[in-house]
Amino acid sequence: MKKYGLPIMIMVIIVLLFLLVDWISSIRVGSYNVEEANRNIMIDLEPKNVPLNREGKSQPDTESNRIVYLTFDDGPSPVSNDILDTLKTFDAKATFFMLDPAMRVNPDVVKRTVMEGHAVGLHGVTHDKNKFYQSELAALSEMKTAQETLLRITGVTTHLIRTPYGSVPYLTESFRDVLNHNGFRLWDWNVDSSDWNLMEDEYVQQVISQIEELDKYGITPIILMHDQDGTAHHLSTLLAYLKEHGYKTGVIDEHMESYSFNCYDRCYPVDEE
Ligand SMILES: [Zn+2]
Repeated sequence: MKKYGLPIMIMVIIVLLFLLVDWISSIRVGSYNVEEANRNIMIDLEPKNVPLNREGKSQPDTESNRIVYLTFDDGPSPVSNDILDTLKTFDAKATFFMLDPAMRVNPDVVKRTVMEGHAVGLHGVTHDKNKFYQSELAALSEMKTAQETLLRITGVTTHLIRTPYGSVPYLTESFRDVLNHNGFRLWDWNVDSSDWNLMEDEYVQQVISQIEELDKYGITPIILMHDQDGTAHHLSTLLAYLKEHGYKTGVIDEHMESYSFNCYDRCYPVDEE
């Protein structure tokens, strides 16, 4: 037995070394997973509600029934017609958050938007943060004014709203309460195209990379875009991508659980700036 002692000891040491290497690499993998999980949590923490897919399931959609919500702010304008044309070509639907004065100037565009099966929400009147967020009553009355204008033009009443520049930081809890008690449904976004400050088609890649990130977690994209020339010009590139990747476009409706940013400790009154 004694003559086998040394080889056995060497074998035991080799096995122990293997186990040690395995343990160290599992720690590395472990820390990577923790990072991934943290990123997941960050995405989950940001919105108040994670939108569900069409069947009301929270698990990731399969390739064929993935939904995306396209939203366009600050219209309508003559450019909306180009956007509507492109949407029609791709058999896609969108939600338009419209400004009151723009609806008054372009009533035919508003009618066409509704006629073609898109959703219309409200974006207020002034689009001036110092006016809209001046008081709860100011915000409420801007939304009610826009609501009446849409009703007068189309016969449609909507409670869907998106506040100017999004709900963070100026839409404090008291504003949210007032809008909520008046039946309005607040919508922010989880994909920011930055189309207002990017050159021409750059926003498309911006959107695609954010969609791909959300897709890892099965989160339904709600894309913020604007009613403007550059966005309209390159919309077909984005729609082609969505089609190719099995996304269907949905319209936001009032009965869906709305999606808005949480204030956490980020909201403050506009006059404290
Ligand atoms: Zn806006």
